Amino acid sequence: MRLISIISGKGGVGKTTIAANLSVALSQLGFKVTAVDLNLTTPNLGFQFGYYLNEVGLHDILKNLDKLEKGIYIHPGGVRIIPGNLSIESLSGIELSNLDKIIYRLKSDFVILDSAAGLGREALASLNIANDVLVITNPEITALTDALRLIKVAENINKNIVGVVLNRVGRSKNEIRKEEVERFLGYKVLVEIPEDKWVVKSVEEKIPVLYLNPNCRASIEIMNLAYAILGTNYRIKPPFWNKIFFWR
Ligand code: ADP
Ligand code: MG
Repeated sequence: MRLISIISGKGGVGKTTIAANLSVALSQLGFKVTAVDLNLTTPNLGFQFGYYLNEVGLHDILKNLDKLEKGIYIHPGGVRIIPGNLSIESLSGIELSNLDKIIYRLKSDFVILDSAAGLGREALASLNIANDVLVITNPEITALTDALRLIKVAENINKNIVGVVLNRVGRSKNEIRKEEVERFLGYKVLVEIPEDKWVVKSVEEKIPVLYLNPNCRASIEIMNLAYAILGTNYRIKPPFWNKIFFWR
């Protein structure tokens, strides 16, 4: 089993979108994948898959492990999801130490943890429990300095940083280039996911972009991220007509 925490220093860089779609990509490659929402205060991983009025969520399972079976939602595409609960009272009495047991009982090939941004209690829980850490950032200085701070913390507790994902590339002018990002953070950029209107549409429609449009640039790069995580050199090349409309 591989446990990958999706983390970022700054909020809103694309962790939840990537956690959801990386789970889809790995499941399409034949693996049993469970995506878990560790954003305890503001859970929103379920939205990406259309689960938002779930009865049982991670909060309940953390309080009572017997609820695990009921809290796993199997998406028609095959990914298993443990969403959070949206009610505020579900926050009290949570045993974060139960997280290990939950993950062990999932018996998945991959467990993908969507995390809170920054270095708060929830974010650190995700960092502590993971073997592998995937750092998501945008090509701008504020996101990068926050990412660097988180990387230093991850290094201090000897986590394996798998690499960096540059998301929303091409959104603004004067972006920091891949090579500079690698030099600044000290880790390889595994993929550059472009700003893509299909991602926005997929969040609106609550269908992961890999299902909504598997051929859009963002979907192709998320699939390539799955290949990179598997350690293969294989990469899909975007069709040329898709490339014409993409520049930096
Ligand atoms: P985080 O979990 O890091 O807070 P989210 O995954 O929720 O970030 O993404 C924040 C917003 O950014 C979402 O509304 C999503 O639609 C948008 N977004 C993320 N990645 C992309 C992308 N590659 N192209 C366009 N919009 C994106
Ligand atoms: Mg999020």
